[in-house]
Amino acid sequence: MQLSLFDLHCDTASEMLATGQCLRDNRLAVSLKKAEVFTHYVQVMAYWTDRRLDDEQGWQRFFEILENLRNDPAVLDGSAVISTACPPHEHPPTLILAVEDARIVAGKLERIDLLYQNGVRILTPLWYGETCIGGSHNTSVGLTDFGKAALRRAAEFGMLLDISHASYASASEIFELSEELHRPVIASHSNAYDICPVSRNLRREQIDAVLRSGGVIGINLYQGFLKENAQACAADTLTHIEYFLEAGAENALCLGCDMDGCTLPEDIPDVASLPHLAELMLAHNYSETLIRALFYDNAYRFASIHLCG
Ligand SMILES: [Zn+2]
Repeated sequence: MQLSLFDLHCDTASEMLATGQCLRDNRLAVSLKKAEVFTHYVQVMAYWTDRRLDDEQGWQRFFEILENLRNDPAVLDGSAVISTACPPHEHPPTLILAVEDARIVAGKLERIDLLYQNGVRILTPLWYGETCIGGSHNTSVGLTDFGKAALRRAAEFGMLLDISHASYASASEIFELSEELHRPVIASHSNAYDICPVSRNLRREQIDAVLRSGGVIGINLYQGFLKENAQACAADTLTHIEYFLEAGAENALCLGCDMDGCTLPEDIPDVASLPHLAELMLAHNYSETLIRALFYDNAYRFASIHLCG
C-alpha cells in the first residue's frame, strides 16, 4: 500500500541544530531520505524551547534554529520547502513551522507578530509548568491575561492554536477563545486519557470539543503516552485509534508522531518505519481509506481550509 504522510509534530529542527545534522540524511528519526517511502510528505516542524533556556535565550534560539533550517542544503536547493502555502504544497516535501512553548514571547505581544511574519502557522502555547502564557498540563492553572491577549492575537492572524501540553483550565480557555473567533482547535500530539491516564493526554470532553471546533488530533507515538508505566509498541497505537474512532474522529484523526522529541516504540524507530503501523491496521481490517485518512488525507484537508497563507 503506497502512502503519503502529513505529520503534525516533530522536534527535528531543534535536534538538527543541537547535533549539527542536516535534513536530507541524518541519524535522527526524521530525514528526507527516510521519508522517501511516502509519495507526498508534509511535516510540521516545531521549535521546542529547551527548559534550560530562559525566555529571552529561547527567543534567540528560535531564530538560530530557523536560520539553520533555512540554510539547510536540502532547503537551499529546493529538495524541501518551508511553506505557508494554503493548500500546502504536495511537491517537494513541505515543512510547516510551529512553535512549542510560546513563553519565548516573554510578555511582548509584538513577538506574536514576528513569529507570524517568520512563517509560524501553528502555536502550541504551553509546554511545562507556569509561564507568561499560562498553566501547562502539569498544573491546574489557566491562561494569564497576557496569554489570553497573545493567543487572541495569534488566532486573529490565522495561526492555529494547539492544546497539546496545556492544562485542563488553559485548554478550556483556548476552546472559549477559538469559539468566539470561529477558529478550530487542534491537539497536534496527544492521545486518549481514558486509555493512558497521563496529564498530556486528552480527556473525552476535550476530544469532543476539538471535534466540535472542526480541529484535528495527532496520535503521539511516545511510549509513555501510549501505555502508562510500560513499554509500548506500534500495536498499542491501535487502542488509541479505536478509542478516537468511537468518539467520532474518523475525519479528524491524524498522526503527530513527536519524532526526535520522545522515546518511540521499538517497532517504529523512525519515519521510514511508519508504514508498519499501516500494515498493522490492514491486518486488523481497517480500510485503506481510513489508513490514508490517518496518515495524510485528514491533515491535508484540514490544512487546505485552515492553514493561513
Ligand atoms: Zn511536545
